[in-house]
Amino acid sequence: MTSNQPVIRFAPSPTGELHLGHAYSALFTQDKARELDARLLLRIEDIDLVRCRAGFIQGIFDDLEWLGLEWEVPVRRQSEHFADYRAALSRLEALGLVYPCFATRTEIKSAVATRPGHPRDPDGTPVYPGLSKSLSETEREARSAAGEPFAVRLDMARAQRLAREIAGSPVTFHEHQRGPGGETGDVKVDAAIWGDVVVARKDIKTSYHLAVVVDDAFQGITDVTRGQDLFYATYVHRILQVLLELPEPQYHHHELVRDTAGRRLSKSARDQSLRALRESGITASDIKAQLGFNTKGTDHPRPKKNPAE
Ligand code: GLU
Repeated sequence: MTSNQPVIRFAPSPTGELHLGHAYSALFTQDKARELDARLLLRIEDIDLVRCRAGFIQGIFDDLEWLGLEWEVPVRRQSEHFADYRAALSRLEALGLVYPCFATRTEIKSAVATRPGHPRDPDGTPVYPGLSKSLSETEREARSAAGEPFAVRLDMARAQRLAREIAGSPVTFHEHQRGPGGETGDVKVDAAIWGDVVVARKDIKTSYHLAVVVDDAFQGITDVTRGQDLFYATYVHRILQVLLELPEPQYHHHELVRDTAGRRLSKSARDQSLRALRESGITASDIKAQLGFNTKGTDHPRPKKNPAE
């Protein structure tokens, strides 16, 4: 190992069984690690204490081992590092860039319903309509002292402004593959499309966005490989990295595996899990071949439609 050796990670969330989409992502990550002669880490993203299960973590280890992935130990589990995310949140607080949001989902939904044409974020969720943003400091303190639960949101307009100031130029990142809209090369960040994102959820006091940038920096990740569904999340990640003075990784977003109807596979839709495929007698080589990984080298295949057939 050399000190400037690239570091790459596969970071699944144990909220269900892995499916072919995860297999593609894991194999893509392994190929990239080989191509870059990088160390390969596995990170378990289990901050969601309700949806994540120990059994799914064991399932991830079993599935990845079966696929032939080799990763370094110990494996970082996000649920063991809430203090690190709390420290990052404090820095954002100290910069005056976050505010408590007491609004419930229902309140947000009804506020949005009164505004036809209200913008949606890249995930299709209506952009936060700003309900708790105008509360006075006194009101915020009174409501939190009364025990009212709150999430913490990033004031995106201010965050982007400060990030640009710190960076000394518009914030960008380098995309080595492409985004859903064909974005490639140096991509200019426009995090305003997300509105005031939640950086700390009501229940766990952190969020995917915050935990992922803290961990990528802590683990020295130089190259992030993941699906195109997270391409636009990178806009938020880059803003947070600049504000928290964290290093900028290189990004490689791959295409998603889709079913015959063109839908991406999902855990909730109970797409055939790797465990079920394995138990039906399918081998890891079959999966690799079906996903187009039967070639050696650095030529990443494009995901085939309906690879299980
Ligand atoms: N944990 C995320 C997922 O399973 C991936 C996070 C990332 O690669 O940035 O979708």
